[in-house]
Amino acid sequence: MNSEVLVLNQDYEPLNVASLPRAFRLVLGGKAEILAEGDPIRSASRSWTAPSVVRLRHRVRRPRPRAKLSRKEIFARDGHACQYCGRTGVSLTIDHIVPKSRGGDTWTWENLVTACMACNHRKGDRLPEAAGLQLRRKPYEPRCDVYAVFLPYLRHDAYSAWRDFLFISDSAAASGA
Ligand SMILES: [Zn+2]
Repeated sequence: MNSEVLVLNQDYEPLNVASLPRAFRLVLGGKAEILAEGDPIRSASRSWTAPSVVRLRHRVRRPRPRAKLSRKEIFARDGHACQYCGRTGVSLTIDHIVPKSRGGDTWTWENLVTACMACNHRKGDRLPEAAGLQLRRKPYEPRCDVYAVFLPYLRHDAYSAWRDFLFISDSAAASGA
C-alpha cells in the first residue's frame, strides 16, 4: 500500500512528502484537497479514500527541502564506512556521537554517524575521545534537492500518480513520462 503522500503547494509546486495520517489531517481540516487517490483503506465496515497527491489550498512559502533523516541515509552519507576506523563491508550500526545519556541530540544529522560494531562497542556510552576514537570527518546534513526527495518513489508503481504532478512544469516532462 502506498503510505506516503505527495504534497503540492497551492501553485502545484511539489513541496514535500507527508505520511498518510498527516495528509488526512490536512484534507479533513480543509487545508488541502485530494488531486489523486491511492489505494482505499478498508476496515471491517468502512472504506476510506486515501490521498496519493494533495494540494494545499493556500500557498505556503517554500521551505528548504530537507533530506530525510534515516539509518539508510546516514549510511549513504557516510559511504557505508565506519566513521571511526573506516572499515566497509562489515555490519554497520548507528552511533550517537554524544550519547543520549550525556544529553546528546538523539536524532540529528550532526550527532549520528555510521559505526562498525567493534567501534560502537568500544565506544560504549562515552564520548569518542574518551574511548580513543576519532571521527574521520564532521557529520553534516546532506544537501538535498527536490529530485532526490521525490524520485525514489517513482520507482514504485504505488506512486505512479505522482508522475503527472512532479513534471508538470518541467520542460523535460516528455522525457520523464
Ligand atoms: Zn569501526
